[in-house]
Amino acid sequence: MKTHAIRIHEFGSPEVLSWEEVDLAELAAGEARIRHTAVGLNLIDTYHRTGLYPMDLPTGLGSEAAGVVEAVAADVTDIAVGDRVVYTGRPADAYSERRNFDASRLVRIPDTMSDDVAAAVFLKGLTAWYLLRRSYRVADGDTILLYAAAGGVGSLASQWAQRLGATVIGVVSTADKAELAKSQGCDHIIMADDDVPARVRELTGGQGVAAVYDSVGKDTFFASLDSLRPHGIMVTFGNASGPVEPFAPAELAKRGSLYVTRPILYDFIVTREELLIACNELFEFIGSNGVSVHIGQTYALKDAAQAHRDIAARKTTGSTILLP
Ligand code: NDP
Repeated sequence: MKTHAIRIHEFGSPEVLSWEEVDLAELAAGEARIRHTAVGLNLIDTYHRTGLYPMDLPTGLGSEAAGVVEAVAADVTDIAVGDRVVYTGRPADAYSERRNFDASRLVRIPDTMSDDVAAAVFLKGLTAWYLLRRSYRVADGDTILLYAAAGGVGSLASQWAQRLGATVIGVVSTADKAELAKSQGCDHIIMADDDVPARVRELTGGQGVAAVYDSVGKDTFFASLDSLRPHGIMVTFGNASGPVEPFAPAELAKRGSLYVTRPILYDFIVTREELLIACNELFEFIGSNGVSVHIGQTYALKDAAQAHRDIAARKTTGSTILLP
């Protein structure tokens, strides 16, 4: 069977993305074939494109999508033809009209949720879930610092953290993003070019925050450590400015016996049971009153290169979806 998909034959700038007709293999045991209806864009897709996170070439791209099941292998019992499903995972090939995928990693989309919303919140919302509920469990009354607060992960994490009783300090780069972040769960905003630790001290009566969720990486690492209270935890979970460089553990001692963790989503949803627990919490959160899912941009899937340019240039807000 033929389908269309984005392929890259070399790592590089967005121009390496090419929309091609490709062969779709017969289903292997345990697989389902999905016709995609909405594909989620993630900053990580740009790391795959540039080779920062290397993959074998040629390769597809894309780590999450929603769609409809068109066929299942004979041994698949949990998922049926016609189910609306969403998934995240490897191999990266979500930028496609159709693909085969491990049926045990597919999750049924709740009836009340559209495919667009499912693709907008799945990877990013599960990330918000593990950041706030597993990496460091936010407690009622905590103050936390969250970078890229108007972005995909950020606008979900800020709303979720506020519902858990946290005071959320968001960091953003523009006045428009500040407005958006304030309307989506941030109690206070710090502009990215401010002296972040100094502003955090002002906002916390000199104490510092319980946890920093830092997706910017290299450029903000020490400012984030300087923003923590004693015994606080630095959750460094992204590389928007480049990977964090090696540092001496003594840096943690001299700032008050701090903790650092460098988590990735897939370590928190290893088994199907873990995945479904996470999804139940995510769907309950998204379905609850007042939660806003901001899909800031929509592109045709074959124009994914433009979406890559825009997310890398910090032009996007909230989630971005690509439509096959
Ligand atoms: P976003 O929608 O948040 O877009 C990235 C944002 O990062 C930008 O809008 C920008 O916000 C901010 N940013 C700061 N510095 C830079 C820079 N130098 N270049 C580009 N952007 C910058 O993306 P996602 O929601 O897809 O992902 C958010 C982060 O979470 C990413 O770093 C991603 O890698 C990470 N992530 C990690 C996961 C994990 O398990 N470890 C899983 C999923 C995502 P502003 O202009 O306001 O600063």
